[in-house]
Amino acid sequence: MERDKAMNIYLLAVIYLLPSFAMFGMTALILCRDFRNPLYRATGFMFILAALNFLAAFLSNTAPLQHRPAILLYASFPITTLLVAASLHYWYIYTKTYEKKNANWYKAVFVPYIAQLLFIPIEGYSVRSIAFRPDGSMMYSPGPGIMIFGVLTAFVIGVIVRLFIPLLKKEPGPAKILLIGMILATIFGVGVYAAGMYYQAEQFLIDKLSTHSMLIILVTVFINMIKYNDLPSYEKRYRILFEQAPLGIMIVDRSGKIREASPMAKGILNLRHSGKNIMDCFEEKQRADRLKSYQESFDAKARMENCELRLDSVPNTEVTLSLDSEFMVVGAETLQFIMIRDITDMKRNEHQITYLAYHDGLTGLNNRTAFQREIDRLIGFSAPFTFILMDLDKFKQINDTYGHHAGDLALRHVADLMSAHVRKSDFVARFAGDEFVVLLRESCRAEQFVADLLEWMKPRPLVLENGEELSIELSVGVSRYPEDGSSADELYKRADDRMYAMKRSRRHLVSNNG
Ligand code: GH3
Ligand code: MG
Repeated sequence: MERDKAMNIYLLAVIYLLPSFAMFGMTALILCRDFRNPLYRATGFMFILAALNFLAAFLSNTAPLQHRPAILLYASFPITTLLVAASLHYWYIYTKTYEKKNANWYKAVFVPYIAQLLFIPIEGYSVRSIAFRPDGSMMYSPGPGIMIFGVLTAFVIGVIVRLFIPLLKKEPGPAKILLIGMILATIFGVGVYAAGMYYQAEQFLIDKLSTHSMLIILVTVFINMIKYNDLPSYEKRYRILFEQAPLGIMIVDRSGKIREASPMAKGILNLRHSGKNIMDCFEEKQRADRLKSYQESFDAKARMENCELRLDSVPNTEVTLSLDSEFMVVGAETLQFIMIRDITDMKRNEHQITYLAYHDGLTGLNNRTAFQREIDRLIGFSAPFTFILMDLDKFKQINDTYGHHAGDLALRHVADLMSAHVRKSDFVARFAGDEFVVLLRESCRAEQFVADLLEWMKPRPLVLENGEELSIELSVGVSRYPEDGSSADELYKRADDRMYAMKRSRRHLVSNNG
């Protein structure tokens, strides 16, 4: 008899303690994977309850006889009730039922369950009477509480099946695994029940296996989680990509919190740890507005595509980023997967190239391309303006006498004097060689402008490196839009004719004087 008892304890340990420890182990694995994920937490909770349930079953079969009814009432029944509620909670999270419009109806299913928990210990509610079989196992005649529990559980199974059916279409992979689990568990449960009936529940093992169908379901939940939510080999590949990719990668939630950031992303955003909020990258006064628009796009699942973002929260460290993003659902949560490129240098180069395309390398004034763009723009407005063309007199002589370098200095000198003389709204450009143009918005100012410019230049000669002073003279021709022409060419032609007339009269003057 003693030997039989010892044998029984070993068998009971295998039947109950082994699954219990396995469930505890799986709980640890699940929670270590991602404690922040609500689905993982719900799964962990379910597994802990299952582990405790097996532990309670072990105790209710091995504790001194007088304690066994208490274990049944205060441990096994409440744990089983909680386990069903936890399974429902898991399922609600898995199928995103809490986010549905009618979520409150679904939540209401928990109410009778919680009430049931409170009633369990009331005498006569769960169990009417308890007797012991010769092997020490309990036989009890169920009270109304067990009947109610049965009805509630049937209802919960109905709700789970209702939520499960659409999943078969939406996520056939995981749904299939869970379905196989449910079918196997049902076959197992029915088999155990039938065998129990056949052998009149006298066979020790069969009688003890009635709770193990739950084990089958939980193992399939675990397999599903490993396979579809976090496959380790996927994880490795993903890690390599995450850490080595020449892009910064971040995973950000709806509140802007950075859940994960690759080393590259941390470097780009100057983040010291990944727990920060993406809004910290902006100045404090901008954050509320930025967060609002971020959340609006997040809710609309609007992906970013080459989205340019300038960050200037830290003075003198302005960076331009290009962002691309994709939404992903991890467990029960939607997260945004943001890829960042630092395009500060590219933008600076682009700016430089644009500058070079529209400016004259020698004088820094606008060049002919910029002039063409500006005059087209002004003609596009159809508002009157003045075209002033200027050409240096006898510039070749400067080149010939003092060298090309002195010629360059002369051009720069004239450009500087012009820049200093024009208003902000005026447009000045080096047109070609020693020709300059000024576009004035106010046509009535032209004569005065020219007179003032020539006056302004007179006492400001070019001082050469050897100290010699050269006074530079300009010939000027003016044409007006729209009176003198409706295109840049016509305006140029008129101004050029007038400028040459001036040049000729000056030469004439010089030769007469000479
Ligand atoms: P005019 O009085 O009739 O205007 O005669 P000019 O001697 O000023 O000669 P013109 O305007 O016809 O020619 C301009 C000269 O400017 C021709 C070219 O050798 C010189 N030139 C053009 N671009 C540059 C430049 O970038 N640097 C220098 N140093 N000389 C230039
Ligand atoms: Mg000239």
